[in-house]
Amino acid sequence: MSYAPDAIAAIATAPGRGGIGVVRISGRDLSRVMQGVIGRELTPRVAVVARFLGADGEALDRGLALWFPAPASYTGENVLELHGHGGPAVLGLVLARCLELGARIAQPGEFTQRAFLNDKFDLAQAESVADLIDAGSAAAARAAGRSLSGEFSRYTHALVAALVELRALTEATLDFPDEDIDFLRTANAAQRLAALQGQVSSLLARSRQGVLLRDGLAVVIVGAPNVGKSSLLNRLAGDDIAIVTDVPGTTRDAIRSEIDVRGVPLHVVDTAGVRESTDAVETIGIARTWEAVARADLALVVTDARDTDDAHGALLAGLDPALPRIVVRNKIDLMGAGPRRQSLEGERREVWMSARTGVGLDLLQDAVLEVAGASEDMQGAFLARERHVQAIIVAQRHLDSATAQLAIPSIELVAEELRAAQDALSSITGAFGSDDLLGEIFGRFCIGK
Ligand code: GDP
Repeated sequence: MSYAPDAIAAIATAPGRGGIGVVRISGRDLSRVMQGVIGRELTPRVAVVARFLGADGEALDRGLALWFPAPASYTGENVLELHGHGGPAVLGLVLARCLELGARIAQPGEFTQRAFLNDKFDLAQAESVADLIDAGSAAAARAAGRSLSGEFSRYTHALVAALVELRALTEATLDFPDEDIDFLRTANAAQRLAALQGQVSSLLARSRQGVLLRDGLAVVIVGAPNVGKSSLLNRLAGDDIAIVTDVPGTTRDAIRSEIDVRGVPLHVVDTAGVRESTDAVETIGIARTWEAVARADLALVVTDARDTDDAHGALLAGLDPALPRIVVRNKIDLMGAGPRRQSLEGERREVWMSARTGVGLDLLQDAVLEVAGASEDMQGAFLARERHVQAIIVAQRHLDSATAQLAIPSIELVAEELRAAQDALSSITGAFGSDDLLGEIFGRFCIGK
């Protein structure tokens, strides 16, 4: 009897009850599972109504069975999908039956890992599968979709290809030193390098937008009691499409909320109710709040617009000077004043608004997104991760050094910097080693020269 040691199985749908639940099995040889559960061969890629059989031959469930023979499947292996009824008990029975037939429980992400190992997609795409599933907003989901479809990878590959070309030129110069400098000049090495730097900067900007969509911004709301901090938080959380999940601690603890501002997730901590205290529990709450302030990316300093500047001067002075801040002049409805936004010196922004009526909220949202570095629309964003951004920054540094070395010129060091830049960029997609470079060099230059 054939036994597939590498077959993995899992319930692919979310836990809990639903209309449909899917058990997915992937492996090199699924014949035993197929025979045992379905009792017959299936036509590839045709949805078939079938009984899912238990060991005694009795049906555990009845549903659709889908058979994707390798390599035309998600993982690149043979894949069987059993779409049954979406109850945890019945799905558990079907899964247990698959395990009985030789499959083992899949590790988290193992289907996608296999897809990567079988070259179904590269590392960046594999990562975006998880990001698409985790996306907390429509904008983040669209950006993840772009990365998954390979747009991010294609852009990165194109950069790597241009780098390889430049490396090939440089290294050929090293091999044929007689022609070195002239050769590089005719080949426009400096212009090529400058163009590459421009493209890497653009990749960095688009990836940073993606990181913002994915990871969001930590925001703290600070201000004296009663200036309207809680009202502002509610106003920011806004209408029913915003996602608000209060995590209630004690009433004296900081309130944390997840808010979506035009697709960018804000992790907001409202410090309302924080005051000097001798109460032990309250002190813990206060300490936590200040920890949150210390970790924040942005502070919203709320004041009553009718107060003088001095009222929040001490608060502003107490914040880490490096922490970006927006002063929110609240309650303008009580002054009969209109909303406005001001940029003062020292990166200081002020927004005049009313949390009660909502006027000026859009100005505050603009200011928040500006501080976050979000572009107008997130159309070009790639749902990148910090790992990608760091890799791009490393590549950028090496290209800068290469430019400096080219001016000297020190061709060996240019070659070395270009190699390092390529390694950094290639780590994004997890592809392209030195063999490729050799192929590239030998493919472009005739050895006999
Ligand atoms: P916090 O202590 O800073 O969180 O302040 P709250 O949000 O609890 O607000 C204190 C009081 O001010 C409440 O009665 C709010 O209804 C009121 N308030 C908050 N924002 C405004 C505003 O923009 N205009 C007016 N007129 N009242 C406001």
